[in-house]
Amino acid sequence: MVKIKVPQKIKIATHEYRVEFNPLIRHEENLTGSANHLRQRIQVDPLIAPSQKLVTLLHEVNHVISDVYSCKLGEDEIDKMAQGFAELLADNFNLQFDWSDIKELSL
Ligand SMILES: [Zn+2]
Repeated sequence: MVKIKVPQKIKIATHEYRVEFNPLIRHEENLTGSANHLRQRIQVDPLIAPSQKLVTLLHEVNHVISDVYSCKLGEDEIDKMAQGFAELLADNFNLQFDWSDIKELSL
């Protein structure tokens, strides 16, 4: 098992997205994650299980990639791709994701 740190910033094309925890996201938007393209933020619920955090992060990154490269993927495709990549990374590459660098949202 190889531990890797989830980066605070993810760059897709020329866009740099800040990755942050939003402990209120479930209450505010009834979501486990969100990608805000204008503010370039990817938010993840810090209270969900580590495997769910990974799927959520990959789901939101898929939204960014789909948007930036005009893939026009639907919500269902985005989610299944995220699940598949999570299985690839966690179950086949044996990567374990360390979220210790990720901070709670700042305004
Ligand atoms: Zn989505």
